[in-house]
Amino acid sequence: MPKSSIFKACRNCKALVLPDQDACPVCGGTSFTEEWEGMIIILNENSELMNLTGAKKPWRYAINIK
Ligand SMILES: [Zn+2]
Repeated sequence: MPKSSIFKACRNCKALVLPDQDACPVCGGTSFTEEWEGMIIILNENSELMNLTGAKKPWRYAINIK
């Protein structure tokens, strides 16, 4: 099963959420795409990944969305 069929990605912040969620739990956005590539999982607030990716809180994020 392709990864992209498991989650959809928020177009605003790239957070990956389950297909049955209506609003992004990270930014509250309601625009999603199923066309995304790669996944980053940020586990804690102090992660260097948060600086690198610009993520607002620990979550799983797509690396690229189309
Ligand atoms: Zn979002």
